[in-house]
Amino acid sequence: MNRRTTPPQSPGHPVSPSGARRRGARATRGARTSERPRPAALLLAGILAALAPACQPGDTQQAEPIPGWEWPMDSVMDVVDDVRAGRDLNPEVWPGGGRVAVLLSFDVDNETIPLRFGEPTISDLSRGEYGARVALPRILRLLDEHAIPASFFVPAVSLMIAPEMADAIQASGRHEIAVHGFIHELNSELDRATERELLVRAIDHLTEVMGERPVGYRAPSWNFSPHTLELLQELGFLYDSSMMADERPYELLADGEPTGIVELPVEWILDDAPLLNPRGDRYSSPRDVLQVWKDEFDVAYREGTMFILTMHPHYIGHRSRIVVLRELIDHIRSHDDVWWATHRAAAEYAAEQAGL
Ligand code: ZN
Repeated sequence: MNRRTTPPQSPGHPVSPSGARRRGARATRGARTSERPRPAALLLAGILAALAPACQPGDTQQAEPIPGWEWPMDSVMDVVDDVRAGRDLNPEVWPGGGRVAVLLSFDVDNETIPLRFGEPTISDLSRGEYGARVALPRILRLLDEHAIPASFFVPAVSLMIAPEMADAIQASGRHEIAVHGFIHELNSELDRATERELLVRAIDHLTEVMGERPVGYRAPSWNFSPHTLELLQELGFLYDSSMMADERPYELLADGEPTGIVELPVEWILDDAPLLNPRGDRYSSPRDVLQVWKDEFDVAYREGTMFILTMHPHYIGHRSRIVVLRELIDHIRSHDDVWWATHRAAAEYAAEQAGL
């Protein structure tokens, strides 16, 4: 059976927030029923058993999600507690007396978005090619002008298609390369063994390219399966940057237990993909987006926390968008006591300060 329960997203566009929830809920419950029955799963089994006489032999029986209002509360809590925010890891002061940490990140998806479901079109692949060919060098030049660091979350296949990106990113010695899946796979659509194998292949390839093992993870499309967090623990990651439970760094909990993994939270309003993708239905004016990002930074500065921005070379790297990033950097640089950092440096510092 085709494991994919929904058609691929429009090329070059991540799963929408609502889409991610729908996929996650369905896949999560499917995965659970195969390994540890829960009250909701039992309820589902009962319903299916009651319907069984109506099914003809050979029917493909597709389990439909049970609406949340029919779930027993212990099932709700069981699902809610899978991945949860633990203690606040925001330090009193960031290094160098910084009152705010600014973490720029670039998800170098390129061709992997059209490739991941095995249905690429030549046009979409060329759009991915732009990411490595034009956008990434433009972004690196801008970062070099200001001598500021950034983290690059790169699917392994992106690096295999354009291996020259690794040297370009590593040339200044300021930037970090971290894991972003093997081919931008959606974790919640995979069984545990496949998810683990792809994650290991991604780690191995980045380790070979970088000469050291990556310590950071960002789930493709920010999509966690019920197994993702335990795999990150098993494989020794320092931090994840895919969840949204805060604006400050925090420790991830798995089933209520501290994991020792630092979460550097993201947000859709701090992501260029849904806002700037010119083929998306939520396309915004880059100038309007700039105002949102400035406001987000200003409050982060006032509250003394963290500002994390997720961007994609094939969106932000265009001429009419890179000017917005340049203006944002200028705006941030007009403030004192800003600590620019890679995700790795921020996670290491937050963990150390908290005695994690
Ligand atoms: Zn991505």
